Amino acid sequence: MDLKPKIREIMDFPKKGINFKDITTLLKDGQAFRASIKSMAELIRDRKPDLIVGPEARGFIVGAPLAYELGIGFVPARKSGKLPYKTIHAKYQLEYGNDVLEMHIDAINPGQKVIIVDDLLATGGTIFSTIELVKQLKGDILALAFLIELTYLNGREHLKEYDIYSVIRY
Ligand code: IMP
Repeated sequence: MDLKPKIREIMDFPKKGINFKDITTLLKDGQAFRASIKSMAELIRDRKPDLIVGPEARGFIVGAPLAYELGIGFVPARKSGKLPYKTIHAKYQLEYGNDVLEMHIDAINPGQKVIIVDDLLATGGTIFSTIELVKQLKGDILALAFLIELTYLNGREHLKEYDIYSVIRY
């Protein structure tokens, strides 16, 4: 299925000069959503991960069904103050702001094979802090996987040591 036409592009959101890729139009289309998750699953299945890790909030939207499809666990990296148990944290920069991500200290066992996922790779800031969290817990990062990659923002350049998979590229 051609997924690109399912994504809506919004100029100058959330600020001038950003051409925002709105995936809500893809998500509300059941066939497109399913095809998106299946495509991500086929890209990473052979790597045999133990866990999928996804950052709040859109990393949950793709990460949870992907983990379910692969029959493995899902670990959320959450925004500050949301997780109830003891946490570790890492700061991150967005294409348009700053925030902190947290993970439970026992979310990943040392040596567990992890694939980190998100809806979209832009500059790589969000995923970089998710990587930091997985490293703090000594998870083994097999790869990074995205539904969408904005190649013109060169996220890959900042993530050179990792295998990167993406389904839709701009
Ligand atoms: P990065 O940290 O610069 O790679 O930005 C990626 C993060 O910001 C992801 O979690 C996305 O959900 C969000 N994001 C950045 N740009 C867009 C966009 O154009 N559409 C949807 N989400 C975006």
